[in-house]
Amino acid sequence: METILLLAHVEPGGSLATSAREALHAARELNKAIAGSSLFVGLVGESIQAAADSIAACPATKYFGAVGAELGQSRYATDAAAAAALCKAAGATLVVAPATSRWNRVLPGVAQRLGGRVDAHVTGLACAEGAPTASRWYYRQRIETTLARTQRPWFLLIDPGSQTACECGAGAAAVELVPVNLAEVSRRTQVLGLREPKADAQTIRPDAPLLFVTGAGWTKKQADCQTHVPEAARLILDFLKLTRASLGSSKSLVDLGSEGQAVLPFLSHLNQIGQTGATPRHAKGLSTCCHGEEPHTVGWRFIGERRAISLDPNCGWARGKADVLYVADAFAVISKVNELLAANPSGT
Ligand SMILES: Cc1cc2nc3c(=O)[nH]c(=O)nc-3n(C[C@H](O)[C@H](O)[C@H](O)COP(=O)(O)OP(=O)(O)OC[C@H]3O[C@@H](n4cnc5c(N)ncnc54)[C@H](O)[C@@H]3O)c2cc1C
Repeated sequence: METILLLAHVEPGGSLATSAREALHAARELNKAIAGSSLFVGLVGESIQAAADSIAACPATKYFGAVGAELGQSRYATDAAAAAALCKAAGATLVVAPATSRWNRVLPGVAQRLGGRVDAHVTGLACAEGAPTASRWYYRQRIETTLARTQRPWFLLIDPGSQTACECGAGAAAVELVPVNLAEVSRRTQVLGLREPKADAQTIRPDAPLLFVTGAGWTKKQADCQTHVPEAARLILDFLKLTRASLGSSKSLVDLGSEGQAVLPFLSHLNQIGQTGATPRHAKGLSTCCHGEEPHTVGWRFIGERRAISLDPNCGWARGKADVLYVADAFAVISKVNELLAANPSGT
């Protein structure tokens, strides 16, 4: 009989992240699909009661908690000890967890400690002939596969954005606290603090409804035979400020910087989407000044509605890769869009 454990770490303020609620949704769907299975919740953090209460109306029948000041921050030794203790206390055979950077780093090691197996980048859970299956994409999101394993515990890291977040309501959850010898395991590594970019320098926003992608065209000579890079930078940053969109880039544009050419200063390879970049998940995407070639568009695999602005009616986007293509000058279009958004901020 399968025992499904939703394993999540709470956020610094004590809440549950959307990615944890998405993993809970996947765990619940699996629980419904496997007859006779149990659904438990395991939470890790400095204080977990508020997070447990926030999902108390979910169909989980038991709540386990690993609590301590040392668990407020991400650290391999303490997180691994806490996760292993929760899995053992719950007797988990299937551990469903959000694929956050914190869990991605820790749970493969926990699976090894418990003699289990782990699969990352899981985008769906189901049941085939009474046994759980997990689906994920390979070859840069070109091939989707379905996996089954007999080894237990089986850890499944659910890709954020691949599920709808569970909407189960709040209540009072009775949490069974599980002891973890934190003093022993945290002795070697001290967390001194966090260094983060300033809020307005952070252009990658996985939770944004819109992905805005910039291509090399923004830095190319325009109709007046001149480049307009500072103007491009201003238009793009204004658009991001007005829409809170996440910023993506084509490979060509981020590569220009390393080739010593004029480039947009706020772009790095972290913004690159595509075959050799990221494949983010957003409801909508707007590509500007990009050619829309296959290695680039493969990054749009999980964009719900794709639009593009390009001067070239024969470019890859025009040949059926975008849902809507505007054959237009992106400088003129984005300038007008920014003007309209500034006049009517609720229009975003
Ligand atoms: C193995 C391999 C892996 C790769 N992986 C990736 C990857 O992961 N990600 C990726 O992005 N690329 C990748 N590429 C590169 C990819 O094939 C393309 O070369 C690249 O995406 C093109 O970038 P671009 O569209 O920005 O530039 P260009 O191809 O130079 O296109 C610029 C476009 O801007 C338009 N334009 C110019 N001015 C304006 C204007 N004022 N208004 C509107 N449009 C304008 C032009 O008409 C043109 O269509 C890979 C290539 C290979 C071989």
